Amino acid sequence: MTAFQAPTGTRDVLAPESARIEQLVATFAGLCRRAAYGLVLSPMFEDAGVFRRGVGEASDVVTKEMYEFEDRGGRLLALRPEGTASVVRAYVQHRPPVPFKSWYVTPAFRYERPQAGRYRQHHQFGVEAIGSADPDLDVEVVALLDEYLRAAGLSKLVLRINSMGDDECRPGYLAALEVFLAAHADELCGEHREGWARNPLRVLDCKREECVALRPEMPVLSSMRCDNCEHHFARVVAGLDALGVGYQFDDFLVRGLDYYTRTTFEFGSLALQSAQNAVGGGGRYDKLVAALGGPETPGIGFATGIERVLLALDAEGAAPAGEDGVDLFVVDLTGGASARDLTHQLRRLGFSAERAFDQRSMKAQLRQADRSGATVAIIVGEDELARRQVTARVLRGPDAHHQESFDVDDLAPSLQKLLAGARP
Ligand code: AMP
Repeated sequence: MTAFQAPTGTRDVLAPESARIEQLVATFAGLCRRAAYGLVLSPMFEDAGVFRRGVGEASDVVTKEMYEFEDRGGRLLALRPEGTASVVRAYVQHRPPVPFKSWYVTPAFRYERPQAGRYRQHHQFGVEAIGSADPDLDVEVVALLDEYLRAAGLSKLVLRINSMGDDECRPGYLAALEVFLAAHADELCGEHREGWARNPLRVLDCKREECVALRPEMPVLSSMRCDNCEHHFARVVAGLDALGVGYQFDDFLVRGLDYYTRTTFEFGSLALQSAQNAVGGGGRYDKLVAALGGPETPGIGFATGIERVLLALDAEGAAPAGEDGVDLFVVDLTGGASARDLTHQLRRLGFSAERAFDQRSMKAQLRQADRSGATVAIIVGEDELARRQVTARVLRGPDAHHQESFDVDDLAPSLQKLLAGARP
């Protein structure tokens, strides 16, 4: 029978590679906890309308990339292509106290052309902070992403920021942009020549040569921002300065949808090719809660791709995560029962411990112990068993080959000492 393969654009991650992801999860969760963001879990699929409205009917994600399907009950559902819309839907449904500061880790599904750093299922961390329009919250959110990326091990980063304006200044700007685009439609890229009117803002961050070439002449919002937006942005910039978070202004960094307002930001990796160099980004969405049926409520968030961060770490040549071996490997020459009981006891004492199964030879068990990355092998033979002792043999590190016997009933302190000495 032919064996199945993971679907195109998806991949399996097994240990030890997955240890890097485990570390990123721990890093992100730890930073979120310290900043008082709570974990939110929500369904992997939603009424397709949540994403149609929450991500935007005109967005590529919705028009070209979303996995939509009808379930057996005839409901039109979609697999989550990103995290924000679901969290905002959950906020509207449950109305928790504000500010509602939440974080998530989730797979995201997008029918894209698979290539390095672009998958049909990728994984994201994100935060959403709903219920405050305070520019200090923008600073907190941007600084949190900066902290995370640096804690993950990245250093070749560039942060671009912009402000998209609000109901007061955006309409005037859009009108000016439309006049410009109508006059230059022939010079736009193939997609935007016909389609620019559906969502003029998208032309700004179009990466195709023709659109990019027009940038120097395009009207930009920074010259037309209203006082409130100007004041908000100034406060964000002052906050980033105060916290020592470096940034560049970028008039062309837009979230091309009406419910995105004011602050937008994106971290790029200087070590990656430009088409796939975004390691994380986000922005303010002061009209999104209302777009999903809630009361007018401001919010801001970001998402960062796990695979993209790993790719950037590799491209930077950042040190891979430390070896993921267990502390102890129990080698049992008495038939298996000692290994069963000892591993259980050792794990209860707080050690990580592994054993061999299927009553293999001592040689085979020691080979497996070595492969497991264990620091110390705990060997139990008939003699040791009779004396209620074990032999501990150091397998790696400066004390490799050192061997000592310990009483089974007093293992913890002796093993702790041995492990501490054996680790470089
Ligand atoms: P977005 O929701 O498009 O802003 O994506 C958030 C982050 O997820 C990006 O900054 C990337 O790091 C990552 N990302 C987006 N799309 C993909 C994909 N198809 N494959 C891998 N990572 C992705």
